Amino acid sequence: MRRSQLFTKTSKTTPADETSKNAILLIQAGYIYKVMAGVYAYTPLGLRVLENIKQIVREEMNAISGQELIMTNLQPKETWEITTRWDDSVVDVWFKTKLKDDTELGLAWSHEEAIMEMMQQFIKSYKDLPTSVYQFQTKLRNELRAKSGIMRGREFVMKDMYSLHATAEDLDAYYNQTIEAYKKVYDRLGIGTDTFVTFASGGAFTKFSHEFQTICDAGEDILYVHRTKNIAVNEEVLDEAVAELGIEKSELEKVKSAEVGNIFNFGTDKSEQMKIFYTAKDGTQQPIYLASYGIGITRVMGVIVEKLADEKGIVWPGNIAPYGVYLARLGQDELVIAAADKLYQELTDAGVEVLYDDRDARPGEKFADADLLGIPHRVVVSSKTLEQGNIEYKKRTSTDSSMETVESLKKLLTT
Ligand code: ATP
Ligand code: MG
Repeated sequence: MRRSQLFTKTSKTTPADETSKNAILLIQAGYIYKVMAGVYAYTPLGLRVLENIKQIVREEMNAISGQELIMTNLQPKETWEITTRWDDSVVDVWFKTKLKDDTELGLAWSHEEAIMEMMQQFIKSYKDLPTSVYQFQTKLRNELRAKSGIMRGREFVMKDMYSLHATAEDLDAYYNQTIEAYKKVYDRLGIGTDTFVTFASGGAFTKFSHEFQTICDAGEDILYVHRTKNIAVNEEVLDEAVAELGIEKSELEKVKSAEVGNIFNFGTDKSEQMKIFYTAKDGTQQPIYLASYGIGITRVMGVIVEKLADEKGIVWPGNIAPYGVYLARLGQDELVIAAADKLYQELTDAGVEVLYDDRDARPGEKFADADLLGIPHRVVVSSKTLEQGNIEYKKRTSTDSSMETVESLKKLLTT
């Protein structure tokens, strides 16, 4: 992509109405556009990052036999009334609307009830179980406070997976498989070492549910962790959990954290409330076990910015970055233009995704943009580098640069 064609521009001034680091940097760099508090649009740059995150999640969900689908954001009131969750005093984040004929609709804040209702059409017998489906969907939630940038949106992207089982044992086995898949996801996203499977409140069948919490100063949760024992407990269940685990509160370190994922065992609750049963081998009607598994895709993007950014701007891990290389062409000299154009083409042909700064702008401006945008590798072509028959190369996270030939550079960027 040529920088001259990218419609987003970077901005030197920080947005006046943002206090969170992730939103400030993402807006300044042109990844997101703020529509109002908690409501952001994702530009082509931002979308590339989101898609990279989604792809990692998708691969890991597919690896545990998840099947991707997409539900709708318009939900009938009746679907949610059965489980009492239409009630605003039960679910306080609903956005609700009406059809022309006054039929009430809810805008999806979650999809458990919707999935169960749809599955009723397809799950008839024990032979149809287990099954696991997931989607990347926009969730709409009328959040009271939206001051954490994209970490708490009123509209945000979630990966939500739902698994349906004939028995509690089968659900448990899949639940544990999903925990392992989630660990792989957070490892691949570069936040694995700071992400903990956490004891949280609200389990349907055990006392606890599980959250995935990432240590993060900008997070809204408080976590008590024991790094060597790999234990993490949410503040809200601290007393109960330490008693259960047989540990001392004083052994635990208090940290701020962000919930990046949540897994929840509903047992047969939804099935019984919604009267959705399957026919067992012996011909009897049996309730279906349900679990749901969320990952906050847009929140994860914000958490990565918060955790990795430095004083110069965003730092993307290589597998999430919108482009692998920032190619800065310095000067408008014909030879320089020709050499940079050629390098752009060669790298592109070698499968490297390049953001080519072909604008007529000062070197300092280009370097500052490369840093702000957080592109992992920076390559410079100027008359000075060409005089040495070379290209200058630097990593985003390093202060040292090296001189490379086209061949050595290609090798560096493709291996
Ligand atoms: P929180 O306690 O942060 O409000 P939640 O318990 O309401 O989260 P879930 O309903 O379990 O969250 O949603 C699954 C995941 O979606 C969460 O783990 C989180 O990563 C993400 N998420 C939830 N609410 C938001 C939001 N308003 N903006 C962005 N991501 C969110
Ligand atoms: Mg919430």
